[in-house]
Amino acid sequence: MILGARVVVTMDGPPIENGAVAVSGNRIVDVGPFAEVEKRNADEVVDLGEQALLPGLINAHCHLDYTCLRGTIQRQRSFTDWIRAINAAKAALTPAVYLNSIAVGFAEARRFGTTAVVNFEAFPELIARTSSPIRTWWLPELIDVRNPNLPEQLVDRAMSAMSAIENKGLAPHAPFTASRGLYRHCQERARECNLLLGTHLTESREEFSMFHNATGPLYDFMKEIGRDMRDCGGQTPLAYLLRQVALGERWLIAHVNELAESDFDLLARSPNRFHIAHSPRSHKYFGHSPFQLKKLREIGFSICLGTDSLASNDDLSLFAEMREMQRNEPRLSPREILEMVTVNPAGALDRQSLLGRITSGALADLIAIPLEGGRDVFEEIVAFDKVVPWTMVDGHAHNGV
Ligand SMILES: [Zn+2]
Repeated sequence: MILGARVVVTMDGPPIENGAVAVSGNRIVDVGPFAEVEKRNADEVVDLGEQALLPGLINAHCHLDYTCLRGTIQRQRSFTDWIRAINAAKAALTPAVYLNSIAVGFAEARRFGTTAVVNFEAFPELIARTSSPIRTWWLPELIDVRNPNLPEQLVDRAMSAMSAIENKGLAPHAPFTASRGLYRHCQERARECNLLLGTHLTESREEFSMFHNATGPLYDFMKEIGRDMRDCGGQTPLAYLLRQVALGERWLIAHVNELAESDFDLLARSPNRFHIAHSPRSHKYFGHSPFQLKKLREIGFSICLGTDSLASNDDLSLFAEMREMQRNEPRLSPREILEMVTVNPAGALDRQSLLGRITSGALADLIAIPLEGGRDVFEEIVAFDKVVPWTMVDGHAHNGV
């Protein structure tokens, strides 16, 4: 099949006016000006007309379990109160509700042009009961704060829940809820099985205060539920976690909001570069300290965007995340912002040549959005705020409207 469009935004070079992409099975086999692609490929032509054809978007961080919590959790005084509120809301939910939540989330993500997602899954046993219409990296979210003695069993159980899953990883939840043993077992298993690794790190001022000052609402809450707090005090959450595990290329780490000057020195000296998933609208919901985009980029960190869960966001639109990013960082070009939902997360997933760009040999995950014309195509893409009318995942096209 040859897909023709007013402009093909490859993210692998400049946009191609009157371009075309040839797809065979689940792969892109050719891309270029329409006349040339048509000459080289004797295929059926689908003309997408006055649209931009671009790589499908990749959501680098979300929790589809909580799609059903949209609008239900009021803004709290503190991050710790939010954790208490979501825990209370979760107590009333059943596996059937979570399964529906995940299905609704997948459908919504696809309507917004997302063709791949990194999903932290709190209930790994549900994974085998879902069917995913988009490319999904399942990362069981592991917490052992109430019972830190059996990390290996926890990892084994998560792995066996994913035996039939192609794209997978492990996500010890956060340094305040996952033990050193759990982080280490996850890292070890990831190395053996070439898995993605995820976690939440230094998301809130309260997490910072817990590790740095051994005080604050999160410190009190964790102490109350029985966490051994002797590891708190005198170090930042980042420095703490770097002592537990090496945070290298395979880590896609959510948030990284609260950093001290000493953390930037630590990061600059570290030979490893993990990937960062920033969630601009969830960040705003919580009122975290300003995200240190410029400094992190300067020392070589690649930033991806994610929606986080709908317990702290309104919808699963990465276009809305791009616009929030643009409001916060007006000096970024629209192209750089689009990279944060295409090429950057593709790199974090170790799929540089397969996802996030339109190039021969890449997987056929594509979206098309209508153009009004008259301005820069990247600006138009970032400004797009409707349902994405056409998506293709793994070579299968779908009309979304
Ligand atoms: Zn999260």
